[in-house]
Amino acid sequence: MKKIEEYVTSIPDFPEPGIIFRDITSVIGDPDGLKLAIDSLDDLLEGVDYDVVAGAESRGFIFGTPLAYKNGKGFALVRKKGKLPRETIEASYDLEYGSATIEMHKDAIKPGQKVVLVDDLIATGGTMEAAARLVEELGGKVVKIIFLIELAGLKGRERLAKYDVASVICYD
Ligand code: AMP
Repeated sequence: MKKIEEYVTSIPDFPEPGIIFRDITSVIGDPDGLKLAIDSLDDLLEGVDYDVVAGAESRGFIFGTPLAYKNGKGFALVRKKGKLPRETIEASYDLEYGSATIEMHKDAIKPGQKVVLVDDLIATGGTMEAAARLVEELGGKVVKIIFLIELAGLKGRERLAKYDVASVICYD
């Protein structure tokens, strides 16, 4: 059986020189790759007590929704600003140049709910740190943050030091 690493396509110098883009479309485009990715993420949740899965736009949706479905949980969306139709709360975080803002519906998480956050990849950890802030502002508790891919060299895990973080595969 192939490993997850063998399904990931690495594209040098995308979207800019010096970045190696880890493309997961080749993982989810393959039936065995998709199953392995979801099952491997699910393994990271063994023994975790949680009520809801939340994922960041857009690849966090791809992995988070089947995980929620598989475990009989609901799924909450963390979206880029301006996409959600009802009352929202927002959080901003710094990018290399400028900043980004993400939002959640005010009723996406109920006070006291235990939340698992999911994304395809952790680079600097900025996206997930902001997503965790949103969950907490809504009264939720972040019980675990999981990724398919971790870029260890960018030290995103340090930014998320106060959370329980796990990833399926890791690149230096
Ligand atoms: P960050 O907030 O820095 O942890 O960035 C995480 C987000 O950016 C994730 O949603 C990834 O999909 C995307 N991303 C950042 N770096 C890469 C990369 N080298 N390859 C693929 N996606 C990336």
